Amino acid sequence: MATDYQQRMIRAQKEMADQKVDILLLSSGADLPYLTGYEATPMERLTMLVLPAQGEPTLVIPQLEAPRVKDGPFRIRAWQEAEDAVGLVAKMVNQGSRRIGVGDQLWSVFMVGLQQQLPGSLFTSATAVTRPLRIRKDAYEIAALREAAAATDRVVLRLRDEPFSGRTEQEMARLIAALTVEEGHDQATFWIVASGPNGASPHHEPGGRMMERGDLVVVDFGGKIRRYGSDCTRTFSIGPPTQQQTEVHAAVLAAQQAATAAVRPGVMAESIDSIARTVITEAGYGEYFIHRTGHGIGLDGHEHPYLVEGNSETLEPGMCFSIEPGIYLPGRFGVRIEDIVTVTSDGVEVLNQADRSLIVVG
Ligand code: ZN
Ligand code: ZN
Ligand code: ZN
Repeated sequence: MATDYQQRMIRAQKEMADQKVDILLLSSGADLPYLTGYEATPMERLTMLVLPAQGEPTLVIPQLEAPRVKDGPFRIRAWQEAEDAVGLVAKMVNQGSRRIGVGDQLWSVFMVGLQQQLPGSLFTSATAVTRPLRIRKDAYEIAALREAAAATDRVVLRLRDEPFSGRTEQEMARLIAALTVEEGHDQATFWIVASGPNGASPHHEPGGRMMERGDLVVVDFGGKIRRYGSDCTRTFSIGPPTQQQTEVHAAVLAAQQAATAAVRPGVMAESIDSIARTVITEAGYGEYFIHRTGHGIGLDGHEHPYLVEGNSETLEPGMCFSIEPGIYLPGRFGVRIEDIVTVTSDGVEVLNQADRSLIVVG
């Protein structure tokens, strides 16, 4: 199964015509690899896909980077060190191009240069064009996400046999990063180990805290397979949990399961958030669920759709996102459970299968 970049390019051009965007300029960020298979090195030398609404796309690229590009449905214009790459792109932008879509991660230094060289143009976000394409994953993309999720499941399985007590968060984090690669990812991209009171900080950076009996430990990690991400959270208990730890975990699990069960085409993204939030609020912990319920995942670790209050867009088959409610009690502990799911034609497929219970470790 291969990706048809030509097809994606054609769909982007159709979307541009619909939205009256004359030309797309894509540099750093995931829109470029989505359309070309090539990921720009984020650096001071400009790499940029110039995609007009009609006609042939051109990849403008520093000469020394050009050998990394695989053949695709675009022309290559390699530029020499002494050339003005922004000026080159500006010349390629047709005089009639009034509306220019630029990628969200385009560096300001290039953006400012383009604005100076193309004073009559209106710059808009390319995301309006690429979002409807990227938000619904095709079979190739879902297969990669499924594979990545299965690899994280195997890491969770191996962590059950690891001693937590007597190790620091950092030591555990290094082990998780190594296991993430061992179990099949091309690379590990993040590894959160938040023990005891640190668990109350959702994105805690693993530090020197020695883990001990009585701690809950929130482990949230992921990697990439063929550029597609995994993102999985499980909560471990070092030794038997207290009654409150058990109760909080049960509330998060109930929220996670209710939200997952509600996923199907036609449901609003914010409804999934509200379902999870209602369960946690009814358990008495509403004020401690301090983030949205989930985020899309694909070439970016966080992308559309976001499961958050105010997002009334409806779920459609092929959308892939996390469902990750949590409860964070400052100074005490935290619990989060996270799976990646994909919307099917009539419901949901949960890509992660690892045990969601409060996993007791030594
Ligand atoms: Zn997060
Ligand atoms: Zn996560
Ligand atoms: Zn996540």
